[in-house]
Amino acid sequence: MTRHDLVVIGAGPGGYVAALRAAQLGLDVACIEKEPQLGGTCGRVGCIPSKALLESSDLYWEAKTRFGTHGVKLPSVGLDLAQMLRRKDEIVAGLGQGVAGLFKKNKVTRYLGLGRLLGPGSVSVAGPQGELRLEAKHVILATGSISAPLPGVELESGPDARVGTSTEALAWPSVPEHLVVIGAGVIGLELGSVWARLGARVSVLEYLDRILPGMDADLAREAQRVLAKQGLEFHLGSRVTGARSAPGGRAVVEVQGREPVDCDRVLLAVGRAPNTQGLGLAEAGVAQDRRGSVLVDERFATNVAGVYAIGDLIRGPMLAHKAEEEGIACVEGIVTGHGHVNYDAIPSVVYTAPEIASVGHSEEDLTAAGIPFRKGVFPFQANGRARALGHTEGRVKVLAHRDTDRVLGVHILGPRAGDLIAECAAAIEFGASSEDLARTCHAHPTLAEVVKEAALAVDGRALHI
Ligand code: FAD
Ligand code: NAD
Repeated sequence: MTRHDLVVIGAGPGGYVAALRAAQLGLDVACIEKEPQLGGTCGRVGCIPSKALLESSDLYWEAKTRFGTHGVKLPSVGLDLAQMLRRKDEIVAGLGQGVAGLFKKNKVTRYLGLGRLLGPGSVSVAGPQGELRLEAKHVILATGSISAPLPGVELESGPDARVGTSTEALAWPSVPEHLVVIGAGVIGLELGSVWARLGARVSVLEYLDRILPGMDADLAREAQRVLAKQGLEFHLGSRVTGARSAPGGRAVVEVQGREPVDCDRVLLAVGRAPNTQGLGLAEAGVAQDRRGSVLVDERFATNVAGVYAIGDLIRGPMLAHKAEEEGIACVEGIVTGHGHVNYDAIPSVVYTAPEIASVGHSEEDLTAAGIPFRKGVFPFQANGRARALGHTEGRVKVLAHRDTDRVLGVHILGPRAGDLIAECAAAIEFGASSEDLARTCHAHPTLAEVVKEAALAVDGRALHI
């Protein structure tokens, strides 16, 4: 039996960041991860590989469709998919090694194997070394999430899988002829965009009458229009009831009230579910809600003494940076008694082209809550830098309280929206007013000037329109 101050189960962005922060604060920390590679879903089969493919496929698409408008002539543009996938794999491997290096530098002990909670302060690890027992005053559960199944959809795995999840769609060895995406959420739009840019026909089947539920409704509608122009076919109000592979390398997708759809690949992307497999929660008496999320209080403590949970395993948006903030706040709460996450200032980004980013409340939220607000909107079309880039689609929407002018939400559809939203998150975090944003000097010519102009528009004073 080995003793540590803190044992973290799971080395995704929540777990590994919690481990690093705890080590900085002087704890003797161990982290258990069942996969040989550190970094979690995000590093291995999520954020990072998907962004690598989004960047590569965007370059391919730009080279094929837009270089000519810049006066750049290429004899021909070809696709080397194997190289594109290799590059993605190298980035993933490099980041995993980076986390291993950070563990070493911060003296975090790493255990390879499946972690299991045995009770307060007691954990087992089953790995290549056999079964080990660890004792710790504090345990943080950070086992993340897995792709949610859909009844009737028969998932396969590996490169030949005709019906798969995002993990398979990040590694298909050839471009599908016809890809059916089930779910017009974040994964469906990002990976649908990748394969559409590389030449696949992509049909997106969505149960609701809109894409991206939860995002600003206006911008989601505009995003749908832009993505449809790029070739994504949207079928809203389509409830998928089944999908399976068919002879001859085909697959079939069943949709309520419609003819079955024939295709050669299916991506199931209808959400993710907390990953509690083999974690021993029931035996240890850890309370969960009906969806399987571990129940925690505001300090991330579960109902079992000394056991905490963070990230995708608990309530809230399933985002890497949210998991990281919770890991830090949880550890700081344990060591210093203070830890804090501002859930109103967590940005969310969809990495399509253009990107879609938001932070804070949407118009729909504010209206439903009866909070009075003023709105300022400014289009990228009227911005010099956007014109120079040749990316003028979309706009910025700033929402501020009608009486106090405090910024309550910002929603952006446009080039580099994911980078522009950082300023808006900082504004919300610091309790800024739209007047503060509007009076901040923004460099010219930059895309960020659209944020300033939208803030000016809250007071009806936008200049360049
Ligand atoms: P995870 O990253 O899931 O890590 C949990 C770790 O625990 C895993 O490594 C797992 O192997 C390990 N584990 C599980 N059970 C055990 C056990 N019993 N013992 C030992 N180890 C165990 N979010 C963003 O913010 N931006 C993005 O661009 C983005 N893109 C995404 C793209 C895709 C395709 C997917 C699937 C997700 C994406 N996400 C993105 C979501 C993001 O990956 C998650 O929100 C984030 O990884 C959650 O972090 P976590 O630490 O809670 O869990
Ligand atoms: P999601 O919740 O974003 O979208 C799922 C979609 O599937 C919804 O629109 C839903 O209405 C639809 N759906 C559900 N059942 C259906 C059915 N039977 N037929 C047709 N449509 C159906 O889920 P996701 O795209 O799988 O992503 C999972 C999580 O991963 C998200 O919570 C997201 O936070 C995270 N993620 C984030 C990023 C990012 O931050 N850029 C990228 C990828 C994933």
